[in-house]
Amino acid sequence: MAALARSVLVTGSNRGIGLELVRQLAASPRPPQHIFATCRDPGGPRGKALQELAAQHPSIKLVQLDTVNLPSIRGAVRAVGSHLKDQGLNLLINNAGISSHATLLSLDSQEMLSVFATNAIGPLQVAKEFLPLLEKAAKGSGQEGLSCSRAAIINVSTKLGSIGLCLGVHQAPMYPYRASKAAQNMVTRCLAVELQDKGILCTAIHPGWVKTDMGTEKAPLTVEHSVRGILTVLASLSQDTSGAFLDWEGNSLPW
Ligand code: NDP
Repeated sequence: MAALARSVLVTGSNRGIGLELVRQLAASPRPPQHIFATCRDPGGPRGKALQELAAQHPSIKLVQLDTVNLPSIRGAVRAVGSHLKDQGLNLLINNAGISSHATLLSLDSQEMLSVFATNAIGPLQVAKEFLPLLEKAAKGSGQEGLSCSRAAIINVSTKLGSIGLCLGVHQAPMYPYRASKAAQNMVTRCLAVELQDKGILCTAIHPGWVKTDMGTEKAPLTVEHSVRGILTVLASLSQDTSGAFLDWEGNSLPW
């Protein structure tokens, strides 16, 4: 089986789903040549698991990237560009996110803004700044159509952001989280339309309810299981599923 992509970048990869994405990509039979594992503090104690993983796999490069800090995003673009030399970046996975359990009574505008900054504005700004490297990959691939091996942006979303489903509002009101992910979904749709002619795929993926710091121990899915599914879905994406909202098993979700 061919590698999913020659180069992949994952945001928020020091723990949870992001760390497992990097782990499974690096351990795959045909690993990407370059895996840019990014996080806020790759050299610090929060990056320890990632440092240990990178020590076992020369394909993993640790890159500092805080998705709400423009100079940090631009620094990451420069670092990635200098590793790739004349190649582009094939696959950008916007995974970093934060949750919020604020209810109608407890929420305040500061919390709304901070969750929007991370979950909606961050992925858009990261996509915008990495666009030249994605375009370079799309042009240089020699491939027709859309795929993760050519050039793609994957936004990790959630079923809780689906306006069509509007799941469990009484059990989990989570206004800042849901609204920010609904906004991120619109970003995904717009990017898919705008970037299609440039040969760049854009799709939203719901990872399932996963046992991570965010998903908690109560979640039914292990991170290994969710990420195995996500990577299988990513390998299957094409023109037909650019602009789609899919879960980790490839099922289509309503926006
Ligand atoms: P975790 O809370 O376990 O990890 C979140 C990751 O995002 C951490 O690496 C964190 O870094 C990083 N992060 C947060 N803010 C920033 C930032 N400004 N810049 C860079 N990195 C940042 O969450 P999960 O792994 O569970 O979630 C990953 C994605 O999956 C999220 O987008 C989430 O919304 C989505 N998701 C998760 C579900 C679940 O059940 N777990 C369900 C549906 C969707 P740091 O360590 O520095 O804080």
